[in-house]
Amino acid sequence: MNIAIDGPAGAGKSSIAKLAAKRLSFIYIDTGAMYRTMALYFIKQGIDANDRALVESRCDNIDIRITYEDGEQQIFLNGDNVSGEIRNEEVGNHASKIAAYRKVREKLVALQRQMAAGSDVIMDGRDIGTVVLPQADVKIYLTASAAVRAARRYKELQEKGVSCDLQKIEEDIIKRDEQDMNRENSPLRQAEDAILVDSSDMTIDEVVERIISLCEENFRRRENNA
Ligand code: C5P
Repeated sequence: MNIAIDGPAGAGKSSIAKLAAKRLSFIYIDTGAMYRTMALYFIKQGIDANDRALVESRCDNIDIRITYEDGEQQIFLNGDNVSGEIRNEEVGNHASKIAAYRKVREKLVALQRQMAAGSDVIMDGRDIGTVVLPQADVKIYLTASAAVRAARRYKELQEKGVSCDLQKIEEDIIKRDEQDMNRENSPLRQAEDAILVDSSDMTIDEVVERIISLCEENFRRRENNA
């Protein structure tokens, strides 16, 4: 069974998908981490993310592997565990630039489909319901206002002791949304059969409950049709 969760930056997709996956005993696949890992490679190599031809020519040099430790996704870039290193705004902004390139997407979509085949997964990203798993059993489009998303990210960074500026975070989020929604290859959009969940006025637990109940409804329907 496949569950797809798409939505803009900072909508809480990964925290929510992780909790829902635990409750359902599904594997959680964070596809944003894959784009971030590719972006980290280009940052480390000093390659300009705007140089499409150079970025695409280096894609074959990148080996991405994923393992799970106590249910937590670990991601390896050419053998090194970079799960912590990819979690900052610079990498996120670079990821959004290189994610627009066809060759980058082809490489990662193939890996994502391979991981989803034969397992019960919750996968989150931008194009899961539209491109990666168009046959997903449940599709959710999770969003929240840009101001709410920025405030949540600000709080998260402050709790980690990272100094940050709320206005700059909101500007980055809006810029990233624009890039992700207006690119030619697999733009972020709600799949026609996806259910919209606006979490602006919801707690994490409320969103998780909503997603679990949508999945349970789907399980019941499948059982009745069997
Ligand atoms: O979800 P996260 O913020 O980690 O994603 C980083 C960037 O990777 C996004 O802004 C988006 O450009 C890209 N991405 C994508 N398709 C996905 C997942 C992420 O284009 N399925």
